[in-house]
Amino acid sequence: MKKTVEDYRGCTSDKIVDSVYEEASLMSDKHIVHLNSTYEGGGVAELLKSIVPLMNDAGIKTGWRILFGSFGFYKITKEFHNALQGGDLSLSEEKKKVYEEVNENNSTFMHLDHDYVVIHDPQPLPLIRFVGKKQPWIWRAHVDLSNPNEGLLSYFKQFIRDYDSVVVSKKEYMLPYDIPQRVIHPSIDPLTLKNRDMGDAAVSKQLSDFGIEQDKPIISQVSRFDRWKDPIGVLEIFGLVKREVDCRLVLLGSTAFDDPEGEEVYQDLRRQVDVDEDVHVISQANDALVNAVQRASSVVLQKSIREGFALTVSEALWKKTPVVASNVGGLPLQVRDGFNGYLVDPRDYKQCADRVMRILLNPQMGEKMGLNGREYVRDNFLVTRHLLDWIRFLREL
Ligand code: UDP
Repeated sequence: MKKTVEDYRGCTSDKIVDSVYEEASLMSDKHIVHLNSTYEGGGVAELLKSIVPLMNDAGIKTGWRILFGSFGFYKITKEFHNALQGGDLSLSEEKKKVYEEVNENNSTFMHLDHDYVVIHDPQPLPLIRFVGKKQPWIWRAHVDLSNPNEGLLSYFKQFIRDYDSVVVSKKEYMLPYDIPQRVIHPSIDPLTLKNRDMGDAAVSKQLSDFGIEQDKPIISQVSRFDRWKDPIGVLEIFGLVKREVDCRLVLLGSTAFDDPEGEEVYQDLRRQVDVDEDVHVISQANDALVNAVQRASSVVLQKSIREGFALTVSEALWKKTPVVASNVGGLPLQVRDGFNGYLVDPRDYKQCADRVMRILLNPQMGEKMGLNGREYVRDNFLVTRHLLDWIRFLREL
């Protein structure tokens, strides 16, 4: 169903809604295009699905294009993604060739006559070299750039320096280059099937369709099956918690076609889970199920080792569920220790299990944290604020 910015008045302040319309009207002659590598799966597609139509509603012509790549290309760009987050990489000439060739091929049919071009993440980064640049180009990096692989970054530098600006999710991700950079926090859309209100009966129906009983507390992690999200670590933590408090674990993940590692991680996980009827590992792209799991959980975990932002955290907090998250990347932007959840050392499983148990054993405290979480997201991480940040940023360019 088509949504308008007006529809968000009930979720955020009138002032923000009015400002979006007013400030967008000053850009009504502009045409923007966003370009990334997938329509489905992962946080970038999730963001664009809301931002793009709402920008159009606000009066700024905004398009969305996808880069066409091969399986081999996405394998390489996933390695690049991992290396940007600090992983090892053997950067061969062959990999560079495939990476650049796919971008060059796309440039032969990618007519970019817009007023602004916004490139998301590393996959389409080199396109700038092959398309005659006529307007400001922005590189929007969504990954955790706090400890990037230096070799890869120096290879990327030749492309990045042609951009007019770089947008990152956190101050600490800014690159050591003499290029204008801006922090824009991501956001969630409170009116999607994934995030909108859902009654108890609908929650129970979703869960029972997937064989998840609500006879004991549920803890969960909803995330792509990706090693950086550490689903195996979540299993270990569940084992520690389970010794003290009877509960269930739901690990819900989907895969994205620009992430060829997902299936492998999922299969690894399945092998680790013996026949334990309290552990539910579900690989499904199903927004209603995400909504129900985040709502029904007493605690949501985000046990990432590196994390650009994690929309999943704001999604859970919006549903009044406290979150226990690793103190890395974009997670401390959303979780305030002791206020709407807990922050833990990603290597300290005992500490993580302890914080999960604290919430399980103090439901009243968990409820209070959940209420705090909802208001924290309302104030900071809703799509309406995000629209306004983009409009202001583009007007200043
Ligand atoms: N997601 C989903 N189904 C799943 C797992 C994840 O729809 O089984 C969604 C999740 O709700 C969120 C997005 O995928 O909206 C993931 O974004 P996030 O920023 O958390 O992480 P990313 O995948 O971009 O690293």
